Amino acid sequence: MNNFEIAPGEVLFVGAGPGDPELITVKGLKALQQAELVVYAGSLVNPELLDECVPACEVHDSAPLNLEQVLQILIAGAKGGKKVVRLHTGDPALYGAIQEQMEALDAARISYRVIPGVTATFAAAASLKQELTLPGVSQTLVLTRLAGRTPVPDSEALRNIARIGGSICLYLSVGMMDKLVTELLAGGVFTPQTPVAVVYRASWPDEKIVEGSLADIAELVADAGITRQALILVGEVLKARQQGVPEKSKLYDAGFAHGYRDKN
Ligand code: SAH
Repeated sequence: MNNFEIAPGEVLFVGAGPGDPELITVKGLKALQQAELVVYAGSLVNPELLDECVPACEVHDSAPLNLEQVLQILIAGAKGGKKVVRLHTGDPALYGAIQEQMEALDAARISYRVIPGVTATFAAAASLKQELTLPGVSQTLVLTRLAGRTPVPDSEALRNIARIGGSICLYLSVGMMDKLVTELLAGGVFTPQTPVAVVYRASWPDEKIVEGSLADIAELVADAGITRQALILVGEVLKARQQGVPEKSKLYDAGFAHGYRDKN
């Protein structure tokens, strides 16, 4: 395998994955092992990953820090010639606030790279043992959220997104289940019978799965005491585990030739 190296004075944005420390990428792990300074998102990054850092590595939890303070640490470290890792939960490109960090590093003329990670959606799908794109059911996956302190543009209001149908994964929204259900139904495609799965802390030892329909999921989530750190999956695909797949994929169909296989 290629020998990945962080350059002295470089910042690596690394996706830590959803929680299970073994779900970080090989490259992300190598970055952590080489780091001399790590700033990690303490609320959702598994601290076991920090055991991979060398003892001399300087480690900061970003949870109590504001953007300026995070940037100060990253920039001072990089300017001091350190190998710096900014460790984000899941994949850094989703709800990770990395764009403004990269912009500040550009302004400070510090070089950086991004190493992707396994986002919560895919950890939740894996825990459920559920494909999110089934022929004849849905070929589209939307990753979205309800507005919280961060607003969502009007055109992307959940009731508008819900008009598409398809498979929808919602981040940062489990604390607003009643609103979520109202919005999803308002789209006019989903019904009270549409299946919903909620995965709390996917891939962590205390993971919980709650499954129901738009009719009862808000109550089931409340009964389970889940108010944060959960991913919500909505869509007809979720029926396949009980009812079977309506149409097998063309990919492995004997009558379907493609670049790597002739027709049987
Ligand atoms: N960048 C992250 C998302 C950060 S936003 C990623 O790619 O996964 C934080 C939200 O992500 C949480 O509120 C929750 O909705 C979701 N989340 C993160 N980790 C999760 C996990 N292990 N299980 C379920 N949801 C998770």
